[in-house]
Amino acid sequence: MTQTTDPTLVDPVPAHGLATLDARDVSAWFGDHKVLDRVSLTMPAGRVTALIGPSGCGKSTFLRVLNRMHELVPGASLAGEVLLDGHDLYSPDRRLTDARRQVGMVFQKPNPFPTMSIYDNVVAGLRLTGTRVGRAGCDDLVEESLTKAGLWREVRDRLRSPGGALSGGQQQRLCIARSLAVRPRVLLMDEPCSALDPTSTRRIEETIAELADEVTIVIVTHNMQQAARVSHRCAFFLASHGTPGVIVEHGPTALMFDSPQDQRTADYVHGRF
Ligand code: ADP
Ligand code: MG
Repeated sequence: MTQTTDPTLVDPVPAHGLATLDARDVSAWFGDHKVLDRVSLTMPAGRVTALIGPSGCGKSTFLRVLNRMHELVPGASLAGEVLLDGHDLYSPDRRLTDARRQVGMVFQKPNPFPTMSIYDNVVAGLRLTGTRVGRAGCDDLVEESLTKAGLWREVRDRLRSPGGALSGGQQQRLCIARSLAVRPRVLLMDEPCSALDPTSTRRIEETIAELADEVTIVIVTHNMQQAARVSHRCAFFLASHGTPGVIVEHGPTALMFDSPQDQRTADYVHGRF
């Protein structure tokens, strides 16, 4: 058997499989300012969960808690638990890069590295989380990730072009591909379409629907039609009169829209807020 020290010849990225994400009694602060109060939510494996609610009620903060970005904000603190398939995401035994690799994030504004090639942008997802893959494995992962993000056919002949040369919608799909390259178990999306035109938005919604079979998705959206189209479950966040954000109601999307239990949910989903 030949021994190799070639760092490019390492194991392929393992497919982690679907996972349920569970937030239990999550409270979050920025300094003395409490912005989430005992939020509990199960985001089931293989389902799309939409987080809805007015601006400032802590949806983005909640997403950052779910992939351990909140702890990087100076002065930020939190309480409660986040469990990934029953295992503590914040366990001292778990490295931050592992948490990030298993729970990926896509932001509102597409943020590919603009001068980096399309190929390298996808690979950057691996580097950012300390995941090592051989060159052949890399090519396969780039194709796989771009295909899942619905971008492969458009860019396969120009993988060396800069990411910044793509349209806004394509850039967002490139960011989705970058997140998928590490084969996360959960993908968090913070208003991924709000900077995009309707056609690009549709493309991303189609991608979300296809991805839901293999990655648990949590999406923040202000667009109620979008929440109704893409999600299986919804959670309605609210922070009234300066109080910290709470979940007023959560459940299957159809129920939340058709027969909400709380009048405030009814008002919000029907645009009366
Ligand atoms: P949403 O995404 O629902 O609009 P956010 O999570 O962005 O809500 O914000 C919740 C609250 O936390 C707001 O009052 C906001 O001003 C505050 N906040 C968000 N980010 C920071 C930060 N980095 N430092 C201090 N306060 C913040
Ligand atoms: Mg937000």
